[in-house]
Amino acid sequence: MKPLPCPFCGNIPNVYPTDPSREGNDFGQVRCEYQRCPANPVVGDGAIQYDERGSAAYKQLAIKRWNRRHDPRTASEISRTRQSSDA
Ligand SMILES: [Zn+2]
Repeated sequence: MKPLPCPFCGNIPNVYPTDPSREGNDFGQVRCEYQRCPANPVVGDGAIQYDERGSAAYKQLAIKRWNRRHDPRTASEISRTRQSSDA
């Protein structure tokens, strides 16, 4: 799986760890590190709850999260559902 371009600047983000033996095997991260990006978003998995899935699994989930884009229709449906279930 490949990450989609950054929603803020359109550049392809970097995926970490690139070298698990050096950077650690307990996290996965997708980061936009383009210097002129207005947001430099970071999306990750692992680290807080290390459960020995290995960096490949963390990276897959991080990329999946990164690729989940905002859809106004879905968002309004979700907030409506939340409101009605909170009441
Ligand atoms: Zn960016």
